[in-house]
Amino acid sequence: MIGRKKIITGGLKMDKIRDAVNRIVEEVLPHTCLYCGKELKGMQIKFCKKNCANLWHYHNNEKYRERVKKQSREHYEKNKNEPEYKLRQKEEFRKWIAENREHFNDLEREPNRLYQKKMREISEKKGYCKDCFKVPAKKGFKTCEECLVKARIWGKRRTREHRKKVMENVHEM
Ligand SMILES: [Zn+2]
Ligand SMILES: [Zn+2]
Repeated sequence: MIGRKKIITGGLKMDKIRDAVNRIVEEVLPHTCLYCGKELKGMQIKFCKKNCANLWHYHNNEKYRERVKKQSREHYEKNKNEPEYKLRQKEEFRKWIAENREHFNDLEREPNRLYQKKMREISEKKGYCKDCFKVPAKKGFKTCEECLVKARIWGKRRTREHRKKVMENVHEM
């Protein structure tokens, strides 16, 4: 990484200094934001905005990351019972989910799968429905009456859709 280099002027001519500075700007300094890749303008040296700098340091600088984590933990501990704070957190979380729907689904997938698996095991042991976990399973089945009907409807729909797709392909050929 390039720090602020001290340019020693003693004995150097101004145009040489200017050349050196230009060279640093052209060849050594990045032309795009290190975090988001947007083109840099004017006095921007490495990042296009403060937030990009913060995020970049968060991902690349362990000490900085630990400090931020500690501060936000302290902030959370201090405010967690304030109704206004809770509301704002909820709003922000909702907004974040809306903007990062796919990433959120990815994060949820594995815990969801594990939860379903665990619940299925518990239900099976207790003789409960393995789909809704709420009521005892129908005799001789692993699911309750209601879930059985639901599964049949789904099965029929799937078959119908599959048939439709096959027919469409045939027509296309
Ligand atoms: Zn940026
Ligand atoms: Zn059920």
